[in-house]
Amino acid sequence: MKNVHVSDHPLVIDSLTHLRDKHSPVDKFRRHSDRICQVLFSEAIRDLSFREEEIETPLERMTGKKLSDEVVIVPVLRSGVCMLFGALQLLPKSKVGFVGLQRDEETAVASEYYWKLPPLTTESVVIITDPMLATGGSILHLLKVVSKEKIKELRVVCVIAAPEGIEAIHKEFPDVHIYTGSVDSHLNSKKYIVPGLGDYGDRYFGT
Ligand code: URA
Repeated sequence: MKNVHVSDHPLVIDSLTHLRDKHSPVDKFRRHSDRICQVLFSEAIRDLSFREEEIETPLERMTGKKLSDEVVIVPVLRSGVCMLFGALQLLPKSKVGFVGLQRDEETAVASEYYWKLPPLTTESVVIITDPMLATGGSILHLLKVVSKEKIKELRVVCVIAAPEGIEAIHKEFPDVHIYTGSVDSHLNSKKYIVPGLGDYGDRYFGT
């Protein structure tokens, strides 16, 4: 699948199995969630730009490289927040934006109830996080909102994706790169990913 990056990192494969296992308690789920998100984020930023910087090692001066792109993380509330903990350990300078969406039970139309994005610039690489890319509805809403800004690039990081969600996103945003630990089989009638891992937010927050 074009612009879909499925990680084959051993830590991702191992953590995914712990996350999927319904017998994993909340502390273990959190540990593996933080670990898998760190690896998925490190893959999602592999090709970001650098600026050169003169530094001194204890032995001599040299020219090093530091990341120059500004990463802005926008988690889909609520479960996208679970991915922040791992991501911010890896990228502690990242800014974080929030857009809260709620869905009308009857019309299924999403509306925003909260909005707080940091200033976005042409250096900003905006990474939208949602651990379970199911129908893609909330991510699509954020993509539509953020793509109106003058930014460098938009990416999506999720733990598990359903083919239906990937298709929905790429139908409208074919150039958006999606980084994931797995592309699962399908969505069931309740829009859960199969085999999936259940409700990510409930399992992470212990609700
Ligand atoms: N959200 C979840 O937490 N799990 C799913 O399977 C689908 C959406």
